[in-house]
Amino acid sequence: MKRALIFILAALLLTSCGQTEEHSATVFAMDTVMELTAYGENGEAALEAAKTEIYRLDGLFDRRNEDGEIFALNKNGGGEVSDDTAGLLRRGEEIRALTGGAFDMTVAPVMDLWGFYGQDYRVPDGAELAAALEKVGGEVTVEGNTVTLGEGTLLDPGGIAKGWASARLMEIFREKGVTSGLVSLGGSVQALGSRPDGTPWRVAIQDPDGEGYAAVLSLTDTAAVTSGDYQRYFEQDGKIYHHIIDPSTGRPADSGLRSVTVVCRDGALADGLSTALFVMGRERALDLWRESGGFEAVFIDSDGGIAATAGLRGLIRSDKEIVFCE
Ligand code: AMP
Ligand code: MG
Repeated sequence: MKRALIFILAALLLTSCGQTEEHSATVFAMDTVMELTAYGENGEAALEAAKTEIYRLDGLFDRRNEDGEIFALNKNGGGEVSDDTAGLLRRGEEIRALTGGAFDMTVAPVMDLWGFYGQDYRVPDGAELAAALEKVGGEVTVEGNTVTLGEGTLLDPGGIAKGWASARLMEIFREKGVTSGLVSLGGSVQALGSRPDGTPWRVAIQDPDGEGYAAVLSLTDTAAVTSGDYQRYFEQDGKIYHHIIDPSTGRPADSGLRSVTVVCRDGALADGLSTALFVMGRERALDLWRESGGFEAVFIDSDGGIAATAGLRGLIRSDKEIVFCE
């Protein structure tokens, strides 16, 4: 009897270990370091499939890759693309419409001018900016798998590609039978299910001024994507120029924010919105939240103040005071 009990206990222990076994991988793609974690016995296979998918999507979406589809669209002013690229661009266009153009993949010529593309940084003069802005805001039509770009229009999907990829990785994890996992692609985090012990994932929001974190989110089955002025920037004559461009001015967005984190189920939407809300600033961002809903957000402003939308009550904590917005 006693031996049988020990046997059952040992078997239970083994299966529970099997279920919570952690598998992780680090990948460098899309210009950033990516950490992937999957739990359970299918974790390793899921990670292998996830890595293959990341490299494939990076190949398609990297506009420097001459074999990629974004490169080809930019070169030819349009063309036939895969379901992935068509889906990414359709999503990007929806977010452009939703945010009144604060998110706009056609900012590519301005990104190039500032040297963010290729890290050849410089501050352009007004005439150069005006010329580049002429090419921003053009038409991007996606009909089935056929894409047509307006005259001179160039695409930069960098503001949505990581979130799109993280959403795909969740699908792959599920297909492989993984029910608990987390991917962090640069500032773009997406969680599958909860932690193996059933508690929510804890996702830190970086302190824009330091190495530590400003707040921690408790999340289950959702994405949390941060756009911040500290993620990519250069300094010239004591001034910081960061990589989130206001498409209406062609200059780094100056909306009084240091970072915006968007929480929502759809990784691509979270990514596109994080970029857009950073451009829009807190008040316009809150107007959009009240009107359209479907996401929550955390704003860290230039003074270090933290504000969050009301839906995050109980899901965010910080050593600092958090102002909840209704
Ligand atoms: P994120 O880090 O997601 O906020 O995206 C920033 C990246 O998106 C930049 O490096 C550019 O490639 C691109 N980008 C910059 N400004 C915009 C904008 N206003 N709309 C769409 N994409 C942008
Ligand atoms: Mg983004």
